[in-house]
Amino acid sequence: MVGAGFAGVECVRRLERQLSPDEADVTLVTPFSYQLYLPLLPQVASGVLTPQSIAVSLRRSSRYRTRIIPGGAIGVDLKAKVCVVRTITDKIVNEPYDYIVLAPGSVTRTFDIPGLTDHAFGMKTLAEAAYIRDHVIAQLDLADASEDPAERESRLQFVVVGGGYAGTETAACLQRLTHAAVQRYPRLDPGLIKWHLIDIAPKLMPELGDKLGRAAQERLRQRGIEISLGVSIAKAGPEEVTFTDGRVVPTRTLIWTAGVVASPLIATLDAETVKGRLAVTADMCLPGHDGVFALGDSAAVPDLAKDPDGGAVCPPTAQHAMRQGRHVADNVVATLRGRSMRPYVHKDLGLVVDLGGTDAVSKPLGVELRGLPAQVVARGYHWSALRTGVAKTRVMTNWLLNSVAGDDFVRTGFQARKPAKLRDFEYTDAYLTPDQVREQVAGTARLEQ
Ligand SMILES: Cc1cc2nc3c(=O)[nH]c(=O)nc-3n(C[C@H](O)[C@H](O)[C@H](O)COP(=O)(O)OP(=O)(O)OC[C@H]3O[C@@H](n4cnc5c(N)ncnc54)[C@H](O)[C@@H]3O)c2cc1C
Repeated sequence: MVGAGFAGVECVRRLERQLSPDEADVTLVTPFSYQLYLPLLPQVASGVLTPQSIAVSLRRSSRYRTRIIPGGAIGVDLKAKVCVVRTITDKIVNEPYDYIVLAPGSVTRTFDIPGLTDHAFGMKTLAEAAYIRDHVIAQLDLADASEDPAERESRLQFVVVGGGYAGTETAACLQRLTHAAVQRYPRLDPGLIKWHLIDIAPKLMPELGDKLGRAAQERLRQRGIEISLGVSIAKAGPEEVTFTDGRVVPTRTLIWTAGVVASPLIATLDAETVKGRLAVTADMCLPGHDGVFALGDSAAVPDLAKDPDGGAVCPPTAQHAMRQGRHVADNVVATLRGRSMRPYVHKDLGLVVDLGGTDAVSKPLGVELRGLPAQVVARGYHWSALRTGVAKTRVMTNWLLNSVAGDDFVRTGFQARKPAKLRDFEYTDAYLTPDQVREQVAGTARLEQ
């Protein structure tokens, strides 16, 4: 099993329950010892939740018998049936397999925009969320200390690119953070703080539908977030960002959440892809390769509920990834026991978007909600989806504490003075090429160890 996210963990837990130890050995390759509950990441960035509360332990129960390899898969040789792993100590090992399930998720999608990868922050890992929180608080601290009006202006403007749920929630939650924090900085003019949310698409979160999407947009505008649609970034620099409509915004904070692309691991397979995601059948198998399964954000799983002819692909959501995880486990067990596999079918249950405080929009089973009822549904949904009782308790306690006592806006400085841009946190250059994978498996590679 590669990847311990929504898809991987659900799959492993089900395999452990269904297979006896003498039927199969299960190995999980994962760089971290936790499953990250990504939908709550913006709340970590804004300090509503502590980082630990959404890092759900993989080793909580002694019933778990999976062997966990701490590292990342950097290549797969489908012919030799070997997965090449770089451990967290940078040792490269070949792991042979009979069956492999690929669930390495996705990384932030970037474009060839001058300065983007050098100056933008991502919002895809726990480290990025914790870093952005420190960074935003640091901008307030530095602006407060500065006597230079130009520096102050650039430190108090923030740009988020991406009007999907990840970007919208990030902008909304962080704006709440600066709005509340500025009260502790009597020298700062709150009017100087400006959040920009921009997207090249004509609408925010089109999945919400026109009415709810407009309601979310209106609420964010009332809170002072400047939303620009049909606009992207033309170039990014250390102290300013140029929009495609010609505006130049002085800023030291560019957060890039303009979509995701499948993990670079998928390209090492040298197999067919659909927009970068591995092309699989509806039972999540790789055609032409026995025993290879893929799912979640990294795979293009046909969405049979939307189009029974297989013309649509499941969107990259946790909702699908979790269900695909359980379904793949059933298909692996069926294969092992000589039974036939079943295709994956799941009708989307809707969307919840937490905009901070009592602001939210959600559309459970097609019912449009906004404000407090939407927030109750959003938090209730996420809370119930957290896998362990301890994680549930941590999150609930954090929510209660935050609503009663607020935030102390403490800057921890953990990653201070270290490179912290997109490529530094998402390790996208750690992978092998298909040729390097073959050399490594054949024992002829000259890789650094
Ligand atoms: C800010 C944000 C908010 C979101 N909000 C929502 C929401 O409200 N609702 C919703 O349904 N979806 C939401 N999503 C999307 C959702 O989180 C993803 O679709 C989901 O996590 C996909 O599950 P996955 O298992 O495919 O990947 P992930 O959950 O990302 O898991 C992939 C795992 O693989 C590991 N990994 C990566 N590379 C390797 C490698 N080479 N070797 C081994 N392991 C590897 C990673 O560390 C990770 O643990 C949100 C995403 C973000 C970023």
